[in-house]
Amino acid sequence: FDLLLVPRPLLRSTICGCTFSHYTLNYTPNLALLPIDVHVSGEHIQAAKAFLELNGLSYSVLIEDLQVLLEEEKREMIASRTEERNTRIFSYAIYHTVEEVKSTYNSTLRLYITSLMPYKHFKSTGGNNRPANWINFGIHSREWIGPATGLWFANKLASEYGKDPSVTSLLDKMDIYLELVTNPDGYYFTHNENRMWRKTRAKYSGNLCIGVDPNRNFDANFAGPGASSNSCSETYHGPSVNSEKEVKAIVDFVKGHGNFKVFIDMHSYSQLLLFPYGYTSTKAKDHDELNALSKVSTTALRSLYGTPYVYGPILTTIYQSSGSSIDWAYDSGIKYAFCFELRDTGRYGFLLPAKQIIPTAEETYLGLMKILEHARDNPY
Ligand SMILES: [Zn+2]
Repeated sequence: FDLLLVPRPLLRSTICGCTFSHYTLNYTPNLALLPIDVHVSGEHIQAAKAFLELNGLSYSVLIEDLQVLLEEEKREMIASRTEERNTRIFSYAIYHTVEEVKSTYNSTLRLYITSLMPYKHFKSTGGNNRPANWINFGIHSREWIGPATGLWFANKLASEYGKDPSVTSLLDKMDIYLELVTNPDGYYFTHNENRMWRKTRAKYSGNLCIGVDPNRNFDANFAGPGASSNSCSETYHGPSVNSEKEVKAIVDFVKGHGNFKVFIDMHSYSQLLLFPYGYTSTKAKDHDELNALSKVSTTALRSLYGTPYVYGPILTTIYQSSGSSIDWAYDSGIKYAFCFELRDTGRYGFLLPAKQIIPTAEETYLGLMKILEHARDNPY
């Protein structure tokens, strides 16, 4: 990929199903007027531009050469990891591999946080089935800011307990489960093969392409509008509900626990705070409360560095999607179901520079705490 084109302003219906070069856009028409970011490989740039111009679609170039950013990221990672190794101090300001996430938990954070499953789920405190909050990171593997933010949260929560009154009262009443690397095979693949990989790495016989979009694989209007039946699509819903082990692990765990009050799925990028529904335009029955809470949360988030966030139901805010995690969580009875789309709005996209990790984590923490405190103070 070499170039990112952003047609704007744009009704998605205009380009629904259109194919230029070998790239198919599979968006479902809706009312959103947000721009769409499209990656085009170098050899197809001229054809893509001609297609857009022929169809009267305006566009601007967001990233001239993605390869340059990819190489810069790689160089930076090598340098910062060498420094980390030399100083022997774990750095929250750099991106880490699955193995590094796992080992920091086994050493540093073990004192505070009980590891439930090897590097997959981490639980804040003891007690059986107390009211709990679920937060997963990196279900889409290229969204590296997710796991990096999750690591920072874990350390923050663990170190503030007993100091910060809000964190202390939260953890005295509720548990927090963090799944830091929700799509480990995909995450490994982004570190070693293809930085822009989004899906799982599952192979199914008869499928032309590898991988399933785990955020279309949940039991929420599965295989409905806003999910693709084409295995090569970035939004392929998979052969059946919960076919992905990453998805089934969450579903089994959350259901088995039975007392989750908050379910948050952390993604990037776009700076959005979304809540149900994605599969229907019908308002969620708690729409007003979720909308008001989103406002409080995004206001707190913005207060630190001025980062603007848009909020609302998935379908009316971005696009229709079936089989998403938060729709499933909400329909399973978890009222406070949210999806964050973290920084930025496309300047760097998935390749958010590591120097933005801590600012992103700090601001998101403020927004996140508003949701967790609300759940603590409004038991149901
Ligand atoms: Zn995502």
